[in-house]
Amino acid sequence: MDEVLAISALQHYAYCPRQYALIHVEQVWSENRYTAEGRILHKRVDAADPEQRGTTRFERGVSVLSTAFGLTGKLDLLEIESGDPPKYTPVEYKRGKPKTEDWDQIQLCAQALCIEEMRDVKVEEGAIWYWEVRQRVKVEIDRSLRETTIEIIDQARELLVQGRTPPPTPHKKRCRACSLADICQPQRFRTDRSGDYVTRLFEE
Ligand code: SF4
Repeated sequence: MDEVLAISALQHYAYCPRQYALIHVEQVWSENRYTAEGRILHKRVDAADPEQRGTTRFERGVSVLSTAFGLTGKLDLLEIESGDPPKYTPVEYKRGKPKTEDWDQIQLCAQALCIEEMRDVKVEEGAIWYWEVRQRVKVEIDRSLRETTIEIIDQARELLVQGRTPPPTPHKKRCRACSLADICQPQRFRTDRSGDYVTRLFEE
């Protein structure tokens, strides 16, 4: 597969395809409080050594790859509970709190797809640990989540191949927390009708 996607890019795409394209197609990046806090949290989590507690092994900062899906990334934590077969649980740390949207679950599912391919196992569930509310949320890696994740992988890859930056998300609230708002200028693009004008010109 020519275009290997970073697993974190899937979350960008699910949040806003334009944000994804600005970062991964146009290669621009800008940090805000949320991204800085997230980066520091992941750095702390990934730095810890692997350990064995009872029947469970905890591996941190695990690099993963899927050639089948063209994905690469790093897991915050992989729990391996011994048994026959052993139980593999990817765990992702997030700075915020649980959301109604499924961005975090998509990222976790992509990690599960990589683990399945690399270790030849079936991953039935993962977990997301939300720092702000100190809560661990169990995530079932079921068929529906797998289908959604694979759809997002395909769409994100397509955009990368096309090298296209789509218009701003219709979910205006998301722009408030977006570190790229100054670069993106969503309001300006939403009110700019020059694209429609050019289309009409050719239609006529
Ligand atoms: S400012 Fe809004 S439209 Fe622009 S990249 Fe961010 S979320 Fe997307």
